[in-house]
Amino acid sequence: MLPIQSKLPDVGTTIFTVMSSLAAELKAINLGQGFPDFQMNEELISLVDEAMENGFNQYVPMQGYMPLRETIAEKIHSLYNTNIDPDSQVTITPGGTYAIYTALTTVLQPGDEVIVFEPAYDSYIPNIVINNAKPVLINLKFPEYKIDWDEVRKKINSKTRMIMLNSPHNPTGNVLRAEDIEELRAVVKDTNIFILSDEVYEHLIFDNVPHQSMLRYPDLLERSFVCFSFGKIYHCTGWKLGYCITTQELTKEFRKVHQFNCFSCHSPSQVALSKYLKNKEAYLSLGNFMQEKRDYFRQLMSATKFIPLPSYGSYFQIYKYGEIGDESDTDFAIRITKEYGVATIPVSVFYQSGKDDKVVRFCFAKKKETLEKAVERLLKIGR
Ligand code: PMP
Ligand code: GLN
Repeated sequence: MLPIQSKLPDVGTTIFTVMSSLAAELKAINLGQGFPDFQMNEELISLVDEAMENGFNQYVPMQGYMPLRETIAEKIHSLYNTNIDPDSQVTITPGGTYAIYTALTTVLQPGDEVIVFEPAYDSYIPNIVINNAKPVLINLKFPEYKIDWDEVRKKINSKTRMIMLNSPHNPTGNVLRAEDIEELRAVVKDTNIFILSDEVYEHLIFDNVPHQSMLRYPDLLERSFVCFSFGKIYHCTGWKLGYCITTQELTKEFRKVHQFNCFSCHSPSQVALSKYLKNKEAYLSLGNFMQEKRDYFRQLMSATKFIPLPSYGSYFQIYKYGEIGDESDTDFAIRITKEYGVATIPVSVFYQSGKDDKVVRFCFAKKKETLEKAVERLLKIGR
């Protein structure tokens, strides 16, 4: 075997693959990995079929299908009153994860520091490390999972190149508030710090809380890469299609990286989305749709011994399991998959230190019957 020096020596297989494989092997109900188990919108499926029939089966431009970029710019204007130039500020990418990786690769030089809040979505840190930059870790304050801005101020120095934000947040379901934006503004003012804003759950926000997109704030957008995922919001995670919005200058650099990695993305779905995205109701109703699932799941779970933490957005709800288990969260997640047939995600995997607050993450983006069946099983724990 030829020797290879690993670029990511400390990285194993992502927890999502581990728990989904275990769930499949044991035929458990999978409330672990974040993906819906219900059918996506039929109209959107028909629009893809139609695009293929109409011959949209060849490469679109490297930046993305222009009518889709135009519709995205219109949508941003209608949501946030911000003007985005579709030609020079929007790039279609194969998913949100790729957009994030590309943005980091565009900006980071060896030795740069990147502020990452933990628990953190598991692609962030390897994406920083592979660019020879350094993640600077800050814990969100448990159990509210709020940002400690004093800690951020302490960690910032001349090497700080970027701050990574994610709202609505995976795995906690917390969201940024107007106060956080004020703190962020103060922290980055007069610095060369970029912002990576992971907004893949943008419409999946509950209780009428406004989504604090960087797109709302021109002064922050100036230094931001804002990343989105069609898969997450339109219930088609397997499509792996998303986009990145940034300034004209940063877009130029972003596309230098993008064009030699993927060049262009799946054409028929871009054609379909360019039409479907014009339907405002379709995206404005997503928050209520998912909130109903959160509320239904929480109502069912109230009969179990799990204790919920708040979830204001995303697909996810965190629960404490202290009353029914004293093992580590990973052992607990494995045990309930094996013994009760319900897979979850242990939250400690989202910390480099393995910090274990004895909580697990459930994905409630599922059919009612799936949630009911899962909770029926969970009710048996500790009885
Ligand atoms: N960021 C977060 C926080 C996510 O949960 C996901 C979902 N996997 C992504 C990015 C990436 O989405 P995509 O599947 O479009 O790559
Ligand atoms: N975002 C999804 C989750 O957090 C999973 C995506 C993936 O498997 N990479 O569960």
